[in-house]
Amino acid sequence: MANPYLKRYLMTAGPTPLPPAVSQVMAEPMLYHRAPAFIEVYARVLERLRMVFGTANDVLLFAGSGTGGMESAVANLARPGEPALVASCGKFGERWAELCDAFGARTVHFEAGWGSKVEPAELDHRLQADPAEVVFTTLSETSTGVVNDVRELTAVAHRHGALIAVDAVSGLGAVPLPQDEWGVDVVVSGSQKALMSPPGLGFASPNERALERAAAGGPGRYFFDWGRTLQGQRKDPPDSPFTPAVGLVKALDVALGLIEQEGLEAVYDRHRLLGRAAREAVRALDLELFGPDDENANVVTAIKLPDGIDGAKVPKLMRDRYGITIAGGQGRLKGRIARIAHCGYFGAFDIVLTVAAFEMTLRELGHEVELGTGVAAAQRVFLDAGVPVPSPA
Ligand code: PMP
Repeated sequence: MANPYLKRYLMTAGPTPLPPAVSQVMAEPMLYHRAPAFIEVYARVLERLRMVFGTANDVLLFAGSGTGGMESAVANLARPGEPALVASCGKFGERWAELCDAFGARTVHFEAGWGSKVEPAELDHRLQADPAEVVFTTLSETSTGVVNDVRELTAVAHRHGALIAVDAVSGLGAVPLPQDEWGVDVVVSGSQKALMSPPGLGFASPNERALERAAAGGPGRYFFDWGRTLQGQRKDPPDSPFTPAVGLVKALDVALGLIEQEGLEAVYDRHRLLGRAAREAVRALDLELFGPDDENANVVTAIKLPDGIDGAKVPKLMRDRYGITIAGGQGRLKGRIARIAHCGYFGAFDIVLTVAAFEMTLRELGHEVELGTGVAAAQRVFLDAGVPVPSPA
């Protein structure tokens, strides 16, 4: 029988833990989606999404995961036979290329390498060599922990007259991406990461220029046709063209209310501190970060696992023995890295206890660490920041 006293902690970059109020609202009776009680929630969610995206655009809401948001961008912006430039640095960036291929675009894939950033100067060269009307890239590359400089990448794309679509599935609500201020043409995201909601909603926030291109686009889309959802959302009151995921929209409303209450800047500050604490712990343990040591990489911390231990056992042992679920490496990084997430409903002691279990796991697998070294480093970061230690609203 499973040990009933083993507390479970979800420390992955999606799905992420839910605030209790978010879980509770999903237990309420189902609402008819055209009933005033739901329309009120739906309208409020659409407004609150604008706040988190930093945009006056309509944020289109789809039942579907983050990949649905990405697919909507490719379905509406890519054209069969025409070049689409994908600037990737990990597994999720590669997904843009797979999507562009699936929609018949002539995909030009600039691979910056797993663990590297997409350098704006490199993107500039690529666009010079291979002009394209649309660039697809990633804010937070969850497979490696890298956070790209979307402001710079947007400026480069625009210098070449291209639109830019950014996958912010794990980054939105964890690290700043003020869409309108930076002029980003499309941001896509999903509900289950920093937005502290269950999986199942995808978003896309095209600006006017992106909507114009979409309107002139060809066939091959229906559910993800931006025009169709836009038309519904722009009605007064808004009306989804398809049955919306009522329970998830209610959950998202509560979660976005919590973000509003904490304040977006305070949310970013909290993520900054959590990221810093995780990186300091890694350094104190004499381990290396995977990817650049970056003050902005505050979504998920990827740690290179020491040679000489069976890396694939780290997440398994942490989950089975200590009840803490972290992610290992994906694809080519399987067994080589461990990823501790801190995007969404996370506070100081989530980091402290995860690092504690990580230290114990390394010891069990035969890697010598002084117990408490990483924990103390994280504690110091939180103490230096002053009380109260950061915890979500
Ligand atoms: N992009 C990024 C950066 C992600 O982290 C994820 C999910 N891990 C996705 C896309 C895909 O989202 P989903 O699994 O919700 O389709």
